[in-house]
Order: sequence, then structure tokens, then C-alpha cells
Amino acid sequence: MRAVTVTPGVPDSLRLTDEWPEPEPEEGAILVEALAVGVCGTDHEIIAGAYGEAPPGQERLVLGHESLGRVLEDPTGTLHPGDLVAGVVRHPDPVPCANCAMDEWDMCRNGQYTEHGIKGLPGFARDRWRLQPKFAVGLDEALASVGMLLEPTSVVAKAWDHIERIGRRAEWKPKTALITGAGPIGLLAALLASQRELSVHVLDRNTTGPKPDLVRALGATYHSSTVAELDLQPDVVVECTGAPPVVLDAMCKAAPTGIVCLTGVSSGGRTIDFDAGALNRELVLENNVVFGSVNAGRRHWDLAAQALARADRSWLNSLITRRVPVSAYQEAYASTGEDIKVVLDFAQ
Ligand code: BGC
Repeated sequence: MRAVTVTPGVPDSLRLTDEWPEPEPEEGAILVEALAVGVCGTDHEIIAGAYGEAPPGQERLVLGHESLGRVLEDPTGTLHPGDLVAGVVRHPDPVPCANCAMDEWDMCRNGQYTEHGIKGLPGFARDRWRLQPKFAVGLDEALASVGMLLEPTSVVAKAWDHIERIGRRAEWKPKTALITGAGPIGLLAALLASQRELSVHVLDRNTTGPKPDLVRALGATYHSSTVAELDLQPDVVVECTGAPPVVLDAMCKAAPTGIVCLTGVSSGGRTIDFDAGALNRELVLENNVVFGSVNAGRRHWDLAAQALARADRSWLNSLITRRVPVSAYQEAYASTGEDIKVVLDFAQ
């Protein structure tokens, strides 16, 4: 069958093969036919050789962690043939750590977790894959064209879940949210903020292209200034750029008792002058919280499926700026700088 693979650590080793072996039964009882995978920055890093790990004893890693497929067979009866399904990305570590032992793999403490298409587990960019029931998330049939957005939505569903849990340390009535970055994660974070009926502000450096209208369609306000220039005091900031100056500005921007959630993975190696004492003083005197958030647990996947089912379908469709057939896979992984979400289409 077809599979898109890389040799982790080797730049530009991206290949399409049509001789990849069928998924092993040990991968799980639920057999799925791939419909599509979404492409994200993590895939680009893996292709550049900067990230990623093949399964033990193997040289190549199948890419793809933003999955969508249709169930071919499920002898467990959890799902039914024809159902839309996405696969949970992360699996718990084998030790397991205290969190993985409770199936909170997104909070793994020892780093020995595995991730489909990223770290030690084959990805979903292959014609067929298998899932164990607890890693299979069923999707509403109405999401057939956009269901590969479930994975990035699960990441922001976790971010919001943790923001709300932290918020409950005291009286918590947030009114204003600032999202920095209008890529897929930023736009989906804004969607979840608008579903919470907050006054939503999204900041991005782009002034052209589809982003300003996508933000306005959520009833949110689009800004292309710097964070420091914004005339607002957000109760919640979700930072989705990973760009060091934006991250620092975002940490300083929250209102008293405000919460700043960092979701962007910076590449590192860039230093800037910064008054850490002033930031510390502000965080302490204003009871602010700054925290990092990655990946998602099972309950976040279910929350994400509900959020997508409630969202405007045509808005979700507009996030997908290109759908590329598998035969043209290289185009799917080439960044144009203008895309929001590119999808590799296995059904074409
Ligand atoms: C994925 C996460 C994953 C993270 C780190 C992200 O692109 O969405 O599921 O945990 O990369 O590997």
C-alpha cells in the first residue's frame, strides 16, 4: 500500500512508496482506510531532519499525525464499518509514569511517550492503519471534509481545559481573550474562545490573505500591530506563534489574575535582551499564571469533536487552503507561506 515516509534525522529524505506493508494486527483491532492527513509545522521539522524518531529497529517513519479515515472493520464493536474516525497521536510511556498510568499521556513526565508520525510510532499517511479502541475517536459524518482538523483542535481543547482549571483557583469570570498567531492553532483557539462567548482578539503579522476575514467571521477582532501596542488587557492569552518577541510580549500583556498559555514550539538559539525582573514583579503582584501546553488527552479529543460539530462547516472548510492528492505529496509538504492548512488527500 502507499505510504509517505522519511528517515528521521536525514534532511529531505521524504518519499512516497507503494510497497509499504499492511498495518500489523498488533497495532489495534480497528482497521481504518485513510481519507486524509493534515500537514503541520512539526511535519516540516521532521522533513528537515530536525525532529522525529522511527519505530524501534526501523529506519523509516511514516509521517502524518493529523488523521482522518473510515472504519473498514471493528471486531470490538466500538465503531462500525463506514464510521469516520481519527487516531489519537500520543501513546502512554511503558514505565508508566504517574500521569500515563492514568491515561493522561499528554502530561507524560518521563518523555518516553510515543507519537504516531512523530516519535516511535508509524503515522497515518498510509492507505490503511489500525487503532486500539481507546485511541479511536469517532466523528460526526458532517465532518467528512474537515475531520483532519480534529488533532489540532484537540491541542487547543486541552489548552482551554487547562486555562479553565487554572482559572478555578479563584473567582473566574474572563471576558477578553487574546490569541497571538492566526495559523491553524491560533484560529482554532479563537474558535474555541468564541464558543465561550468571550470578546476575542487575534493578532497576526499578515494583513492580506484569508486570515483577517476568518477572524472577523468568528465575531472576533483582527490586529496586525505588536502585542505591546494593543490597547486591551486580556484575561486569557493563548500564544500560538512561538516567536520569542511575541512570547515575551504575550507574557507581559495579561490582565491582573490573567492566564497566559504558551502553545508555540520555538526553535531556540535566538537571544534577546529582556528585563526578567520586571516580568517577575508583574507576574507576582498580579497573580498571573504563564504555562505551557502540548498534545491532548482522550477527554480533549472528545471535547474537540464536540467543538468541531458545533462550528460553522464552511468556516472550517476555509481553513483548508489546499487539498493535494497523494501522488503530488511533495507539493503538500512545500510551504507557500500563504497556506493555513494543507491536506494530503488519500481518497483522490
Ligand atoms: C502535535 C502534538 C505533539 C507535538 C510534539 C505537535 O505537532 O500536534 O500532538 O505532541 O507536536 O511532538
